[in-house]
Amino acid sequence: MSNGKNDLRPQTQLVRAGLSRSQFRETSEALYLNSGFVFENAAQAEAAFKGENDSYIYSRYGNPTVSVFEERLAALEGADMCRATATGMAAVFSSIACQVRAGERVVASRALFGSCHFIVDQILPRWGIETVFVDGTDLDEWEAALNTPTRAVFLESPSNPMLDLVDIPAVAEMAHAAGARMVVDNVFATPLYQKPLELGADIVVYSATKHIDGHGRCLGGAVLADEDFMNEHFIPFYRHTGPSMSPFNAWVMAKSLETLSLRVAHQSQASLEIAKHLETQDKIRLVRHPGLESFPQRDLAERQMTGHGTLVTIDLEGGKDAAFTVLDTLELVDISNNLGDAKSLACHPSTTTHSRLSPEERAQLGISDGVVRISIGLEDVQDLLEDLDRALAKV
Ligand SMILES: *Cc1c(COP(=O)(O)O)cnc(C)c1O
Repeated sequence: MSNGKNDLRPQTQLVRAGLSRSQFRETSEALYLNSGFVFENAAQAEAAFKGENDSYIYSRYGNPTVSVFEERLAALEGADMCRATATGMAAVFSSIACQVRAGERVVASRALFGSCHFIVDQILPRWGIETVFVDGTDLDEWEAALNTPTRAVFLESPSNPMLDLVDIPAVAEMAHAAGARMVVDNVFATPLYQKPLELGADIVVYSATKHIDGHGRCLGGAVLADEDFMNEHFIPFYRHTGPSMSPFNAWVMAKSLETLSLRVAHQSQASLEIAKHLETQDKIRLVRHPGLESFPQRDLAERQMTGHGTLVTIDLEGGKDAAFTVLDTLELVDISNNLGDAKSLACHPSTTTHSRLSPEERAQLGISDGVVRISIGLEDVQDLLEDLDRALAKV
C-alpha cells in the first residue's frame, strides 16, 4: 500500500511516500536486492509482458525498492512519474536521447556541468543533431536561437560553477513556441528550492549523487515528467537501453530523502552566512551566492527559487596561485569536485571540472583561474569560517 497521498505536506511525503511494506511489516523500507521476479504460472508471465498487470518483471524495468525512491521523489517534485537512473549523466543523456532524432535541433545554455556540455557539444552532433549554445542569462540569445523549430531545450539553473540563473518561465514559453520540450537540470537548486515543472519546464533531471544522497556514498540520477512523455518517449528508451538504478543505491537514496530538507536547509543557511563573510575579505574579487544582495540576478532568484542552494563561488584576486594556496591550506574543507555532501568540499573548476573547455569558453562563462567553488556541508559554521580565514590569510 502506498502512502504517497498528495494531501500530505512535503516533509511527510519525504518520509512516507512510496512506502510499501512486505508481509513481514518491517518499519523501515525493505531492500529488494534482486534482478528478477518469478511468476505463479505461465499465463501470469504472459500478462505481465503484455503490460496487462503491474507485476515486476526484471529490475532493468523496475524494482520495488527503486519504486520507493521514485515515488518519494515524484511526490516532492509534484511530477506524475519518476524513473531512477544509475548516475546523473544517465538521467541527462537518456532524457534528451529518448526524444531527439537525426535532423532535429537542440538548444542549450552554455553554462553546463562539464559532461552535460560534452553530450550537447560532442555526442549529439555525431548523430546528426544540430546543437546550438546560448548565453543562458541573455533572453535575446534564447529568442534568436528559438526562432528555428527545435526539439529540445536543455539548461541548468543555477549553473555550475558561477551560479548564473536562467529565467525558466520566459525560456519555457519560447521553447514551446519553437515546438521544443524543455529539460532542466535542477541539481544546484535541489528539488526543495526550485520547481521547474511548475515554472513551465517539461522534464526535470537530477544527479542524486549530490544533495539527494548527501553523504558521498552512491551514484544515482532521476528523470521526472508527465505521464505522456514518460510513457511515449522515456520509458521505452529506458527499458531497452538500461540506465536503471541499482536497488541498493535506491534504498540508500530513499532513506536519504527522509532527511533531505533538514540537511539542505542547514547547508543553505550556512552557505549564505559564509558567503556574507567572504564578501568582506579583500583578497576576493567576487563572491557568488544567489542569496546575497550583490547577486546580479537577485530579482530572478526571488521569482523562481524559494531557497538559495548550498554552494558559494569565489574569484580570488591572485588567480591560480591564490586559489591553489587556499585549497592547499584548508584543513577541514576537502579538495573534491563532488558537491551537496555532508562534508564541505572545494574545487578549482578551471583545472578540474572545466579544464576541457578552451580558455575562451571559460572566459565567456566567467570561470577565471582565481575561481574556487565551495560546497558547504553540515559541519559547524564557525569551524568552516575559521578554516577559510586561515586559508585566505596564507594568500
Ligand atoms: C554531478 C552533476 C551531474 C552528473 O551527475 P553524476 O551523478 O555525476 O553522473 C549533472 N549535472 C549537474 C549539475 C551535476 O552537478
